[in-house]
Amino acid sequence: MAELDAVVVGAGPNGLAAAVILARAGLRVTLFERASTIGGGARTAELTLPGFLHDVCSAVHPMALASPFFTAFGIERRIEFVVPEISYAHPLDNGDAGIAYRDLARTAASLGADGPEWRRLLGPLVRRAHEVSELSASTLVRSPRHPIALAALGFAALEQGGGAWNARFAGDVAPAMLTGVFAHANRPLPDVAAAAAGLVLATHAHAAGWPIPVGGSQSIVNAMAGDFRAHGGTIVTDTPIASLAELPRAKATLLDVTPRAFAAMAGDSLSSGYRRRLERFRYGNAVFKVDYALDGPVPWRHPELAGAGTLHLGGTRAEIAAAEREVGVGGTPGSPYVLVSQPSVVDATRAPDGKHVLWAYTHVAAGSAADRGDAVAAQIERFAPGFRDRIIASATQTAEQVEAYNPNYVGGDIASGDVSFTQLLSRPKVVDPWQTAIAGVYLCGASTSPGPGVHGMGGFNAARRALASQFGMPVPDLAHDLA
Ligand SMILES: Cc1cc2nc3c(=O)[nH]c(=O)nc-3n(C[C@H](O)[C@H](O)[C@H](O)COP(=O)(O)OP(=O)(O)OC[C@H]3O[C@@H](n4cnc5c(N)ncnc54)[C@H](O)[C@@H]3O)c2cc1C
Repeated sequence: MAELDAVVVGAGPNGLAAAVILARAGLRVTLFERASTIGGGARTAELTLPGFLHDVCSAVHPMALASPFFTAFGIERRIEFVVPEISYAHPLDNGDAGIAYRDLARTAASLGADGPEWRRLLGPLVRRAHEVSELSASTLVRSPRHPIALAALGFAALEQGGGAWNARFAGDVAPAMLTGVFAHANRPLPDVAAAAAGLVLATHAHAAGWPIPVGGSQSIVNAMAGDFRAHGGTIVTDTPIASLAELPRAKATLLDVTPRAFAAMAGDSLSSGYRRRLERFRYGNAVFKVDYALDGPVPWRHPELAGAGTLHLGGTRAEIAAAEREVGVGGTPGSPYVLVSQPSVVDATRAPDGKHVLWAYTHVAAGSAADRGDAVAAQIERFAPGFRDRIIASATQTAEQVEAYNPNYVGGDIASGDVSFTQLLSRPKVVDPWQTAIAGVYLCGASTSPGPGVHGMGGFNAARRALASQFGMPVPDLAHDLA
């Protein structure tokens, strides 16, 4: 093999983003992936029955349309997204439901007396949705570039992430809706970091929306892999890398792995102090996932829920917060928070005519072997009586199996690192989060800033660092069109 300029380990969205940037700079790049298919957390497969296309991990992509990398890459021109009119919905037991339309005014109008407060909380963020996207794709060091958006997000997160979170609203629906998005962070609630991450998602819900890629999440990574290969890149699958010594010689090495995996791969070449720093990186709670093949749509009690891309189940704010706190201390809530996506209501390619796929997960303690399938089905049935009768087949993954599927999800933590306040700011360090203690070796995965999600920004930023430091090349900025 001719000597390479760069190697990338891991074909997740971040590894592929790094590979695309390096190959487009004219470098000779090879990407190694341990699995037999590319995509990491953005793979789509027939997990239950032939003809039923399930997203194995990520399903909904608010971060993809908002990501500065994907905007420059022109992802919307390369693949088709459908953006449901209802970004997310949150049913309650009395038959009522909170509906987050892709329209702030319509959402506020549907919230009755709490509508004006919803507008006051989210309006300043939705009006600056582009800045909020850039902030959430950025690091602490660069965030002062958008002081007004940062202040609006910070004040809202402090309020909704602390003891005063119930002060603003009179009814149950608006607080439940916010709690549903905050719970994406999989942390005991209320929590400032979870509120900040959730408020970003809530902002996107009323701006570009929560898009679903036609054909599944795999379409996103296939487009990236196609671009990488078109620029001379090589992808080698079925090749787990256990040690840096196994890699071919190259000036730059970019690793789409966790700090824990990097420490193992680097072996004795790390100082004990630096190794301890990597070991201090914390991993969070886990998920138990279920994919269903259905012989018809979910029979939601509330008729508007039929068109929602995403649903948050678990009842009121108090009920969901109690469930999340129980998971946080290693417990198993009787009435858990369940996150549901129903892609086939907007994307007919996912299932045979008249049939549907449904994607759902609930939170569990790290490393849990518990089968929560009954609890997930019961929570869906609670708001959709008759749901169980529609199930033709299902496939489950325990937290243990999630980690076995992809070691980046340590203990089943799909965020590749706890989304705590500290680790939002320092992921895995504050300044230059991608650079490791070994010259020419960079971390680029979701354990680095800006964190989890299919946005490619970790890979983009690590590749920019490598271009500048290892090759003395001008770095592409995000105004540069990669399309
Ligand atoms: C169940 C689930 C649901 C999710 N839902 C969403 C969602 O709806 N929306 C969203 O935006 N995000 C979601 N996420 C999170 C999102 O998928 C991840 O944050 C994202 O994929 C991270 O990208 P990455 O490139 O950093 O790492 P990954 O996507 O994890 O990819 C890492 C790749 O590296 C490979 N690899 C690891 N170690 C080695 C090694 N030693 N040698 C070779 N290859 C290696 C892995 O096999 C994998 O292919 C979800 C994740 C899961 C698991």
